[in-house]
Amino acid sequence: MALVVHKYGGTSMGSIDRIKNVARRVAKWHDAGYQVVVVPSAMAGETNRLIGLAQEIMPEPNQRELDMISSTGEQVSIGLLSLALQQLGKQAVSFTGWQVPVVTDTAHTKARIHSIDDRKIRENLDQGRIVIVAGFQGVNELNEITTLGRGGSDTSAVAIAASLKADECLIYTDVDGVYTTDPRVVSEARRLQKITFEEMLEMASLGSKVLQTRSVELAGSYHVPTRVLSSLTDPEMPLEEEAKSGTLITFEEEHTDMESTVISGIAFSRDEAKITVLGVPDRPGIASKILGAIANANIEVDMIIQNQSVGGKTDFTFTVPRPDYNRAMDILNNQVKADIGASDIIGDAKVSKVSAIGIGMRSHVGVASKMFSTLFSEGINILMISTSEIKISVIIDEKYMELAVRALHKAFGLEK
Ligand code: ASP
Ligand code: MG
Repeated sequence: MALVVHKYGGTSMGSIDRIKNVARRVAKWHDAGYQVVVVPSAMAGETNRLIGLAQEIMPEPNQRELDMISSTGEQVSIGLLSLALQQLGKQAVSFTGWQVPVVTDTAHTKARIHSIDDRKIRENLDQGRIVIVAGFQGVNELNEITTLGRGGSDTSAVAIAASLKADECLIYTDVDGVYTTDPRVVSEARRLQKITFEEMLEMASLGSKVLQTRSVELAGSYHVPTRVLSSLTDPEMPLEEEAKSGTLITFEEEHTDMESTVISGIAFSRDEAKITVLGVPDRPGIASKILGAIANANIEVDMIIQNQSVGGKTDFTFTVPRPDYNRAMDILNNQVKADIGASDIIGDAKVSKVSAIGIGMRSHVGVASKMFSTLFSEGINILMISTSEIKISVIIDEKYMELAVRALHKAFGLEK
């Protein structure tokens, strides 16, 4: 019998009416003969509300207690969904993370899953029940409740699907799939029917935040076919149609039309900043001193370029998220500049990153030159470039970002 895991986000669980709709959708799958495990998030806004309560007492709450509090949103939603299913005449049972158990490491508020004991889930499925498991939470070896980080119920769902070897993990959300780029920037953006998990990882880490990045990594390493689809459609829509909707995250070897699609999407991140350390002596240890100080402040560095040295001196440029720009500049000016003998620190907090992503790049030449000539013909100056096997990113002035995204989307034929 086919087994599927359904995951419903906060918006989909946002009210009693919506929960009743989720129940109708789940019941439809069960009626069609599927074994169904459902992993819901807390009702929309609930996790924020709970964390806010904790912070009213302690601005930086003790992490164990914070998990105790923030994990309860999902406990409410699993119980409500179970009731809604029972009201439809279905047998349903809900479990918290510790009841399963979903065993995690001890890192409160950002725990990672070690193992899932699937026996209780299987027994209940085999007795014809719909099983509902709380997302976002687990239990560590000390029997303490942990949570998996914000957006963590995506990861819960994929992990449960992996451990049950489910036929598919369906992530129902408030968008109807993954797009070639943000439709708010390019109205011709198209929904992708398929995307490889590697491309999805690049899209997710570049700010197309449909899924928690960790869930995509997990889908990739355990080969869990994962589909992103809308929860806002009519719950009674024909199952065959629903089962094919949205975007399926696949694996390269299954990606049959790989030859024809070179680029799958144009991603962007608006709020970047770039910093250049000028005139640093070209000797071992300089990069580590600069980036070490930045890392110690928990600031993420993205692109890095070191220029060819001239007369024993070189310039060192990197990007950081814009909200961290001032902090990074302070650290460099106050802690690093004199120490490494740099002549100056300059920066630009009005830059954006635009990336072309596609697994087809591995087997096609000329993608980079096409990208650069497209930007050139729009008069857009490239400030930095970085590449990986399946991605080319450029840093440009933020005022050209939307123009660049539109021009590239067109140049790579993504609207077709
Ligand atoms: N409820 C949690 C959060 O808001 C987990 C999730 O929704 O995925 O982050
Ligand atoms: Mg989410």
